[in-house]
Amino acid sequence: MTEKNIASFLDRIGLVVIGAGASTFYYYLEKSVASGQSLGSFVTIALILIISIFTQLLINNINRSREALRESNETLEQKVILRTRELRESEVKYRTIFENTGAATVIIEKDLTISLANSVFVAFSGYSRGEIESKKSFLEFLDKTSHRTVLDNEGALNIDNNLECVFFDRERIRKDILLTIAGIPATDKSLASLTDITELKMAEKQIMHQAFHDTLTNLPNRTLLIEHLRMAIKRSKRRDDYHFAVLYLDIDRFKLVNDSLGHSAGDNLLTAFADRLKTSLRDIDTLARLGGDEFVILLEDIQNSSYASMVAERLQQELKRPFIVKGKEVFAPASFGVVENTDDYDLPEDILRDADSAMYHAKEKGRSQFKIFDKKLHEKALHLLQRETDLRKAIHHKTFENHYQPIVSLKTKEIVGFEALIRWNHPQLGLIYPGSFISIAEETGLIIPITRLMVEKACRDLKAWHEKDQSLHRLTMNVNISSRHFLLPSLLNDIKEVLQKINLKPEHLKLEITETALMEDVEDTIRLVQRMKDCGLQIVIDDFGTGYSSLSYLQRLPIDTLKVDRSFVSRIQDAPDGNRNIVEAIISLAHRLDMIVVAEGVETLEQYTILLDMNCHFGQGYLFSKPLTGAAVDSLIDEMLQFSKENPGRHYPLMKAISN
Ligand code: C2E
Ligand code: MG
Ligand code: MG
Repeated sequence: MTEKNIASFLDRIGLVVIGAGASTFYYYLEKSVASGQSLGSFVTIALILIISIFTQLLINNINRSREALRESNETLEQKVILRTRELRESEVKYRTIFENTGAATVIIEKDLTISLANSVFVAFSGYSRGEIESKKSFLEFLDKTSHRTVLDNEGALNIDNNLECVFFDRERIRKDILLTIAGIPATDKSLASLTDITELKMAEKQIMHQAFHDTLTNLPNRTLLIEHLRMAIKRSKRRDDYHFAVLYLDIDRFKLVNDSLGHSAGDNLLTAFADRLKTSLRDIDTLARLGGDEFVILLEDIQNSSYASMVAERLQQELKRPFIVKGKEVFAPASFGVVENTDDYDLPEDILRDADSAMYHAKEKGRSQFKIFDKKLHEKALHLLQRETDLRKAIHHKTFENHYQPIVSLKTKEIVGFEALIRWNHPQLGLIYPGSFISIAEETGLIIPITRLMVEKACRDLKAWHEKDQSLHRLTMNVNISSRHFLLPSLLNDIKEVLQKINLKPEHLKLEITETALMEDVEDTIRLVQRMKDCGLQIVIDDFGTGYSSLSYLQRLPIDTLKVDRSFVSRIQDAPDGNRNIVEAIISLAHRLDMIVVAEGVETLEQYTILLDMNCHFGQGYLFSKPLTGAAVDSLIDEMLQFSKENPGRHYPLMKAISN
């Protein structure tokens, strides 16, 4: 019988009892009223009845409460069932997510033991689940340094993203991981997920390596070298007993290997070269390749400054042995620039600059040399640099001017032409002579625009003088062409363009080329001079006698004029030393080769007379005239014209003008 049934049964009994009570009460009430009896028993019955009614009411109430309780119990039970089901579903859901995050994931307890690990973590760690869960501390998987990353000061896990740590699996294989730790809300557990970044790290390392190393030789590159130098400078400033030195080296004539054996042979040589140097150095030294055939050695912690030169000498000795490249013996001597005293430097770049400049000077001395940097060298380099900058400005502002030195017929003393001699009008230094800037202009390539300016001005001035009078059309203009410029194909085009622009005939222009320039590349020179001749230009050999051109070579060159170098002319009267014979030989050679001969630097009447006796055609020198400004030539020409007008049929004798 259920509780509900018992309640309704009790309910019914209550009603029966109340009904029976009420009937009995009514019976006794009628009987008492009829018999006139006292109402004592009647009151008793009434009381019982009242009690019964109350009892019944109570029972009813209890029953109702019980019913309500039961109903709420049932609802609660259902709710519990529902909730439990939901919980189970949620757990399944979260477990599925936990399992399938793709990342190795663990739940870590407050005491740092792993209470739950997903299969990815299990596989990643190499342990079984049973060996991990509730057995292992998460820290056991990490290296000591990572402990510091993962834990805060209190020894609790750092709730953080992207902690880079080192992980060891069962086989003690090291893996780089990225760790994310999150607290699980309302618990003292944490969720840690790991991503394997070993390959990423390796790639990163490789990229870093490539950024700081030369791919061919695997040596540190300029960037890394600069970093090492920076550290060396810092250390030497901190410690009095720490000194370092730098060697800058460049393989002599490396281009020859590349050009003759090919680039891959060149690469092989560079690698072998680097290896040989490396084995000759201490571990603490840095050998870096700056590119091409340039290497730098940083010698650290050296005892005395002369150590660097000793190393340079030793390495040069090492480099005397040949290398075998593609089965061939190849020698690779190198020039060394040494910065021994590095105490005063603050910037790595400055040390490299000075070592490089010392190396450059070593190269100038010849092959397989070394040079120790000194301040004077540096100042010279600075001076050259300043000159170069000034020259560039001068080209831009056209602050060059031509002076013209007359060339005179020795017989008639009349002017047959001029030699244009360039001067640089420097804003601070005043007039600078070619001897002080032509070689820098040649080295920097600035000689090309300078020559163009000079030739154009000379041609323009000559054209203006021609235009003064028909009789002056015979005047010619000599221009000096530097030896380095001479072989450039652009020269002839530039000259042709200028002549065309100014409308001057090419036969009025004579190119002066030094004897040495003509000897650079015989076949090329012959071809080039021929092309110039074909254009109508005249070719003059300047400073003749100072070079060593062979007679057969001279014969092959279509040369118009020889200029006897001033050094011979100046000593022509000193009889016993044979200079006279040399000048005589040059003059007769010119006659025989059907060339015109000009004597340079004629200063005295005695020299003039001797040269005239030797049948030298023309002369040039202070005896006739110093180089003159354009304006001075202008007045000279006017004077010449005036003279011709006053003395018809006579030529203006320049010597007389001077002696006047
Ligand atoms: P150079 O072509 O042999 O020119 C002759 C030099 O001797 C000139 O010096 C001239 O002033 C000087 N000279 C002339 N007669 C006498 C004399 O009787 N006694 C003495 N002691 N010297 C005399 P400058 O002008 O200083 O030129 C020097 C050199 O510079 C020239 O030698 C030439 O090789 C070069 N040069 C001049 N102008 C140019 C130019 O425009 N381009 C190039 N590439 N070189 C030039
Ligand atoms: Mg000259
Ligand atoms: Mg000369």
